[in-house]
Amino acid sequence: MTPRIAVVGGGMAAARFAERYGALGGPGTVTVYGAEPRGPYNRVLLAEVLTGRYDAEAIALPLGGARARPGCEVVAFDADARTLRLADGSVEDWDELVLATGANPVLPPVRGLRRADGHGLIEGVHTLRTLEDCARLAEEAVGAGRAVVIGGGVLGVSAARALAALGVRTEIVHQAPHLIERQLDHEAAAVLRERLRALGVECYTGNRARAVHGAPGAAGARDRVGVVELASGYRLDCDLVVLACGTRPRTALAHAAGLPVATGVLVDDRLAAAPHVHAIGDCAEHRGTVHGLAGPAWEQADVLARRLSGADPDARYPGTRPRARLSTGGLEYAAFGTVDETLDPGLDVLRLTDATRGSYKKLVLRGDRLVGAILLGDLATVDALAGAFADDAALAGHPLHLLTRGVTR
Ligand SMILES: Cc1cc2nc3c(=O)[nH]c(=O)nc-3n(C[C@H](O)[C@H](O)[C@H](O)COP(=O)(O)OP(=O)(O)OC[C@H]3O[C@@H](n4cnc5c(N)ncnc54)[C@H](O)[C@@H]3O)c2cc1C
Repeated sequence: MTPRIAVVGGGMAAARFAERYGALGGPGTVTVYGAEPRGPYNRVLLAEVLTGRYDAEAIALPLGGARARPGCEVVAFDADARTLRLADGSVEDWDELVLATGANPVLPPVRGLRRADGHGLIEGVHTLRTLEDCARLAEEAVGAGRAVVIGGGVLGVSAARALAALGVRTEIVHQAPHLIERQLDHEAAAVLRERLRALGVECYTGNRARAVHGAPGAAGARDRVGVVELASGYRLDCDLVVLACGTRPRTALAHAAGLPVATGVLVDDRLAAAPHVHAIGDCAEHRGTVHGLAGPAWEQADVLARRLSGADPDARYPGTRPRARLSTGGLEYAAFGTVDETLDPGLDVLRLTDATRGSYKKLVLRGDRLVGAILLGDLATVDALAGAFADDAALAGHPLHLLTRGVTR
């Protein structure tokens, strides 16, 4: 009998799995159930949709020969009976289940974010996770003079840059001492901050948003944001707020079905959570790590597609070494592995800074092995660097060639 594969969650991991499974000639039928009204799209490009550079069609992702069921939320599944239930009450059978339910934005503990009736966020406060969020934000940005982005990680920086490109004066409030602290060191973040300033974005780092208030004196102000109050007491006037404070894996379905859940749905190296049930992408936790990034989500989808299609029934996911890349109008960086050499006295550093061009490059080495790197502002050598990082072997020649074009090995 033809195996029926049900994929829950029509996002980036789901699309990649379906497309690879088809390309590998998998013998089963794949159905992708997605809660969003549209089929899968490249979420990483949402900030570019916000600026108007791309429209929704341009970021759509292919599904191979899979059947798409957009607007179909799965509300429960039974791992023993191998059935799932949709929001309309219908029940469908499956032979293999792939959970790819992604993550939800985290709402920070900031006073006044919720409406007085307790339902939803007050007017003018946004999250940015879906095309619908993006459309709402774009609509409000048209008449807005000032915006505050709470959170200065990758998402906060991309959102702020996009709002500034729309002509909105934008400020980032970030609790950590510097921007994107999970991927950049202090010096790189300082260069990034200057580049943001040149694009019209100011940053308040080491500063926490404590409360939001309505616009002083405005009618009905209570349910419409007008001010962000920082823990320092400083107040930022604004017409809209974007919350970019990280994400939390969507695990409720798995939890209700009795699957092991910690932060994410726990999976082994086969990406299995239970017999015939698998989890990939932002909802999955593998060897204690929830990545929350597109690269690992795709690697997991590739491994599972190889395994379930029969192309490589023994395929295993060994984990992904940390790496990230942001490429968005005027801001570009790539970061790999360990970027903070102060954590380990055995590490050496090679660093090139060009303040006039706004570029910063750094290699972190253990002996002749590359353990981490940052390129910011000038990504000319990013492919060579990514290759060397992936090889994880002794570097050939002087490592400077990984930072500068034209330097011979
Ligand atoms: C604006 C933005 C910028 C980003 N930039 C970067 C970047 O530069 N680099 C990077 O690596 N990552 C970035 N990310 C993160 C990246 O988008 C995610 O890591 C990636 O989308 C994870 O894929 P996923 O399929 O696991 O989850 P998602 O893409 O979130 O897809 C999950 C889908 O499952 C659906 N779903 C959930 N529960 C159900 C259910 N019960 N039934 C049916 N459907 C369900 C959801 O509605 C959603 O559509 C960014 C994210 C955002 C929002």
